[in-house]
Amino acid sequence: MTQNIDNNISLFERAKRVIPGGVNSPVRAFKAVGGTPRFIKRAHGAYFWDANDQRYIDYIGSWGPMILGHGHPAVVKAVQDAVLEGFSFGAPTEREVELAEEILRLVPSMDMVRLVSSGTEAAMSAIRLARGATGRSKLIKFEGCYHGHADALLVKAGSGLATFGNATSAGVPPEVVQHTLVLEYNNLQQLEEAFALHGRELACLMIEPIAGNMNFVRASVPFIKRCRELCTQYGALLVFDEVMTGFRVALGGAQSVYARDIPGFEPDMTVMGKVIGGGMPLAAFGAKRAVMELMAPQGPVYQAGTLSGNPVATACGLATLREIQKPGFYEDLSRKTRALSQGLTAAAAAAGVPFSADSEGGMFGFFLFDALPQNYARVMTTDSARFNKVFHGLLDRGVYIAPALYEAGFVSAAHTDDDIAGTVAVAAEVFKSL
Ligand SMILES: *Cc1c(COP(=O)(O)O)cnc(C)c1O
Repeated sequence: MTQNIDNNISLFERAKRVIPGGVNSPVRAFKAVGGTPRFIKRAHGAYFWDANDQRYIDYIGSWGPMILGHGHPAVVKAVQDAVLEGFSFGAPTEREVELAEEILRLVPSMDMVRLVSSGTEAAMSAIRLARGATGRSKLIKFEGCYHGHADALLVKAGSGLATFGNATSAGVPPEVVQHTLVLEYNNLQQLEEAFALHGRELACLMIEPIAGNMNFVRASVPFIKRCRELCTQYGALLVFDEVMTGFRVALGGAQSVYARDIPGFEPDMTVMGKVIGGGMPLAAFGAKRAVMELMAPQGPVYQAGTLSGNPVATACGLATLREIQKPGFYEDLSRKTRALSQGLTAAAAAAGVPFSADSEGGMFGFFLFDALPQNYARVMTTDSARFNKVFHGLLDRGVYIAPALYEAGFVSAAHTDDDIAGTVAVAAEVFKSL
């Protein structure tokens, strides 16, 4: 950095006076890795620039939405046109219908969707609907899966299967999480036991099928298959939280990836966000018609939103969904993402650093272990000091990955083979320095 004054530091100081922790979403604060968060001024394609005009290759992509990279011309044009027509009407528009039709065409397990403004809202509403549809209160979630910050979902495991979860945030009363059962991801035995004990009281099981909030951990095929069978057997709804994986790991989402190994596989309900808004606040949840028709105003399950189906956000989402359907889009994205994870693995091996990596579509994760972890407890045994060295080593050299070891990474269509090769070269230097 050539400036005498670091603009990121002065902005962070200013921010901390008026915004708790200086940020509007906790992980942005660099608390896990130390140092000063970069304040971003502008972005283009695969890059963004901070307040010191330092350029970074962006592997966060706004935590998933920016699958086309920043400022894709077709998306910018769609948003500009929409803005001129009006920001928000609080009345229905044709574009919402178009976006709903497009989503349903691409994710055929759903017959209807409701559009909302954030993944949190979508997951929270999906749970209300599952409870309304089944007349049951209890739900299963898995340790390390994040479904937004609704009260009932901010839970960690209790002391045993017979006991329900403990809140992970102050301000969440124990009564609110008493119906949430938290199980270990990929643990078939716990899953069996939980259904045997509570199956008939369960409204739903909610899962990130490829978990991106504990870095990158796949649910095994037998595990997903058993989740499906048990939900069907006990009359609970299987809810796939595809806020991150939807349109990210494949055009049909993670559910289409599992359907390759489990013929006819479908979840009962799907929660989406991130990519479907292309960087604007937009999310959705959907299911079969009989379930979705329980939503207000048709049915008794209430849910609403002043800005839901916002005309600018839907324009951004629609333009994004049109681009990702172009021939070869996911093949190219997957190839680049795989090249990154394989390149990083080779660079780590050359430096003698224990390492493993995985990817699906445009989503990836890496671990400072020899073998890929299967659950949250294993992910959290990462040597965090070592991860922080990798993070800051990359950041200092212009490569921006998530500032926490439990977050996935994202490659966009705008990343070039040179960006990937450059990133691998930088990582090789960092690994050697460890
Ligand atoms: C990001 C995320 C959410 C929450 O979405 P917000 O738009 O941040 O509220 C929920 N579930 C998963 C799997 C996510 O990755």
